[in-house]
Amino acid sequence: MAFEGLAERLQATFDKMKSRGKVSESDVKEMMREVRLALLEADVNFKVVKKFVNAVKERAVGQEVMKSLTPGQQVIKVVNEELTALMGGEQSKIAQAQKPPTVVMMVGLQGAGKTTTTAKVANFLRKNNNRSPLMAAADIYRPAAIDQLHTLGKQLDMPVFSLGDKEKPVEIAKGAVAQAKEDHQDYVLIDTAGRLHVDEELMGELQDIKEAVNPDEILLVVDAMTGQDAVNVAESFNEQLGLTGVVLTKLDGDTRGGAALSVKSVTNTPIKFAGMGEKVDQLEPFHPERMASRILG
Ligand code: GDP
Repeated sequence: MAFEGLAERLQATFDKMKSRGKVSESDVKEMMREVRLALLEADVNFKVVKKFVNAVKERAVGQEVMKSLTPGQQVIKVVNEELTALMGGEQSKIAQAQKPPTVVMMVGLQGAGKTTTTAKVANFLRKNNNRSPLMAAADIYRPAAIDQLHTLGKQLDMPVFSLGDKEKPVEIAKGAVAQAKEDHQDYVLIDTAGRLHVDEELMGELQDIKEAVNPDEILLVVDAMTGQDAVNVAESFNEQLGLTGVVLTKLDGDTRGGAALSVKSVTNTPIKFAGMGEKVDQLEPFHPERMASRILG
């Protein structure tokens, strides 16, 4: 299960604190030393860890006394609130254009789960927001990506726009938006091409698509299992493309948690969804508060 190691360590640290009637400054320091180690071991970015630990210390040491909680519980409450803030605080929703269709570019490296997530987001929008999305197959490089999207479209009984793998992705994207307007589809989800690594060609192509279709949302799909690599990928996509949101996939796996806890703080881009499995309905809105509670038990 995701966050298992981190959750176990934090809970063990906090169990010692919970019953304390009094918490001294050195108790807080001692506890935060353990929290710091647990976060670093969970592959959380070291700058993020530092900022987090300082924020908790500052609040926990000088905090006002609340009668309903023991001092130990109060420290834990501060940690919970700061963890929530670290992951973005409020839940961040997918964009909606003033005038339909809302154009969403799905970007990311190969294997991150981009094509699967495109279908998941389309399914989510129809099921929860009563929208009618059009998916566009602009990943012309990964063999089978286009077929995969068609298969998912059939499975969901949802339209897929494709021009095969000979047209340029930017033309496919433009064609899809035009088609959506014609058919009154209110969302266009463009499954763009990925690469194995971030490179200039990939970014150039994505920038061209961005310029051509002026997306309302650019969602980066990253694999939570890759830890700090996911954060580095998010940083470079954000610098070169300007992201509006992140989807963390494979949170059902045994990720240590580093990506979930670092992405927002490092890139200042909210995590909007979490992928919780391979099936099309295994996508959840990312709730920072629930995630923090899950980690703290
Ligand atoms: P793309 O190259 O980025 O388009 O990646 P795909 O959409 O083809 O996904 C790559 C693999 O990851 C596939 O086997 C997917 O089933 C799997 N995958 C995608 N999202 C998730 C997820 O949230 N959890 C799990 N366990 N697997 C996922």
